Amino acid sequence: MLTIGVDIGGTKVAAGVVDDNGEIVEHTRRPTAADRPDLVAETVADVVRELSAGRDIEAVGVGAAGFVDETRSMVRFAPNLAWREEPLQKKISGLVGLPVVIENDANAMAWGETRFGAGRGQSHVICLTLGTGIGGGLVFDGALYRGRWGMGAELGHMQVLPGGRPCGCGNVGCWEQYASGQALVKEAREIAAADPGRARTLLGLAGGKIEGEEVTEAAQRGDEASLAAFDVFADWLGQGMADLAAILDPGCFIIGGGVSRAADLFLDRARRAFAERLTGRGHRPLADIRLAELGASAGMVGAADLARRR
Ligand SMILES: [Zn+2]
Repeated sequence: MLTIGVDIGGTKVAAGVVDDNGEIVEHTRRPTAADRPDLVAETVADVVRELSAGRDIEAVGVGAAGFVDETRSMVRFAPNLAWREEPLQKKISGLVGLPVVIENDANAMAWGETRFGAGRGQSHVICLTLGTGIGGGLVFDGALYRGRWGMGAELGHMQVLPGGRPCGCGNVGCWEQYASGQALVKEAREIAAADPGRARTLLGLAGGKIEGEEVTEAAQRGDEASLAAFDVFADWLGQGMADLAAILDPGCFIIGGGVSRAADLFLDRARRAFAERLTGRGHRPLADIRLAELGASAGMVGAADLARRR
């Protein structure tokens, strides 16, 4: 049976027809206007109609960046999409005449990776998407863990440093201010500003504005400041995973998102930091720390499978 998975991002809607093995049969995408949340449902309906033509589609799963309520129908708050109490399920389902399930995008990714990607065969998985922030998803006893009100697994907003860097969520010292792509850039900028002599390659590449790509490239060329930024980032990543393991005892972590493409610059050190800081170390198995396998399609595939199991 076929379902459609839809991934709503800040600038585009990507959608695919997915079979029950998690294979994408056909896919398409459209740009979105981030300031017109009312038009997103129309855009989703449009791609669903296109992909449904000549096919028997059972249901639609939609992954969206935001806080999704416990009935999986309402986006309560989406920082990047101007949604407030948006009845997304009702709108889309009314337009396409199919059952619709809404899911937080990081949850959908975690489910996709667990079912069909790096977490295949695992029952206790923590998925971390390292991009601008940290997206989190938890799978426990083979089921997606969503919390009492559907707001669970916002792992990036654990407050790891009192009085630390301000976070977009309104708090300070959140984990994603130290172990996300944006955090890596901030760290590199701080080191370069404090000691430009250590950042010659980075400053040469960046020409004034340091971004993630330059930090990665400079680190690959041995730039001292960029390597130091990756080390700080890796230690925070390992520390956070150790804290999560202390509470949740997962069998594996899956690391995805843009920063994971530079895994050779941080993964070994993050694994070491995790092992060195894990409570009860030496007397418990170490959770496996793996890279995601499905790339950008994890959310689409996960949302489609969640719709199938609605
Ligand atoms: Zn935060």
